[in-house]
Amino acid sequence: TYVVTDNCIACKYTDCVEVCPVDCFYEGENMLVIHPDECIDCGVCEPECPADAIRPDTEPDMEDWVEFNRKYSEMW
Ligand code: SF4
Repeated sequence: TYVVTDNCIACKYTDCVEVCPVDCFYEGENMLVIHPDECIDCGVCEPECPADAIRPDTEPDMEDWVEFNRKYSEMW
């Protein structure tokens, strides 16, 4: 899965949401999040993010971000 990280906070761009083929972006408290079970790992959102906030969970130490994204995806 891909996850949204804290660089997204207060970012006003939603280019990532528009390109996602499965609509798995959700509105978090003050940033967007990706539902980890719905993301199909296509990667098209990553280069669209002007804040470089979208990262693959294959990078080190991403477990907390995966849980954070899951929590806020399911909150509303
Ligand atoms: Fe959507 Fe693809 Fe980004 Fe996952 S990697 S959030 S499916 S655009």
